Amino acid sequence: CGIVGYVGGESVGRDALDVVLAGLKRLEYRGYDSAGVALVADGELSVARKAGKLGNLVALLAEEPLPASQTAMGHTRWATHGGPTDRNAHPHRDCTGKVAVIHNGIIENFAQLRDELESAGCELSSDTDTETVAHLLSQEFEGAGRNLAEAMRRVCQRLEGAFTLVAVHADLPDVVVGARRNSPLVVGLGEGENFLASDVAAFIAYTREALELGQDQVVELRREGVTVTNFDGTPAAVRQFHVDWDAAA
Ligand code: GLU
Repeated sequence: CGIVGYVGGESVGRDALDVVLAGLKRLEYRGYDSAGVALVADGELSVARKAGKLGNLVALLAEEPLPASQTAMGHTRWATHGGPTDRNAHPHRDCTGKVAVIHNGIIENFAQLRDELESAGCELSSDTDTETVAHLLSQEFEGAGRNLAEAMRRVCQRLEGAFTLVAVHADLPDVVVGARRNSPLVVGLGEGENFLASDVAAFIAYTREALELGQDQVVELRREGVTVTNFDGTPAAVRQFHVDWDAAA
């Protein structure tokens, strides 16, 4: 339902988790049933997720704190496939625990993808359509030259339905990748930091410069810049705009 991604750096000095939680808070008005975050720090992927209000996730993070980091993403879920439980909350991980993905929308062909993954020996640990994407990204990652954006492009070409997807990988400390089809995704352009969100409201406290992703596009977000391509890898045309409405709105 709500999606936030962030890559920062030493020069900015923000904790990525703070940015992501503040962004999720700004998207709360849309309604949701669970919330979760993932971050990359010291070559490790950490995930925390919880059914219920954002406050439940914040309480969990207070009990079991995650390391400081510059790369993170967060999600508020409105369940469509699988009940609103902790195990179905996003982010979802692959079997190696190195890839995490969050998703808005519905992967229409997930049952077929799930069967295919299960016959290949993959054990799924949730009832969601989303989890298939984490496993597919993991399968494509090596063949894509360990390039997460390329893995995402390959996976998206196999997906049917409406989706905004955002992913991180434990081995890529300063990359967040996003993709969209029939579901919104905007980039917030900062200095030495960049943002991704399902709605500009998530990042206007930090920047008013934004890019709107078009249909069937993938964005690779790094602290020094963003690269947008179409699902076939060709450079994409994107619209840059200035958000001029009141942050308090
Ligand atoms: N279909 C996914 C799920 O049920 C994503 C739902 C959403 O848009 O929040 O987990």
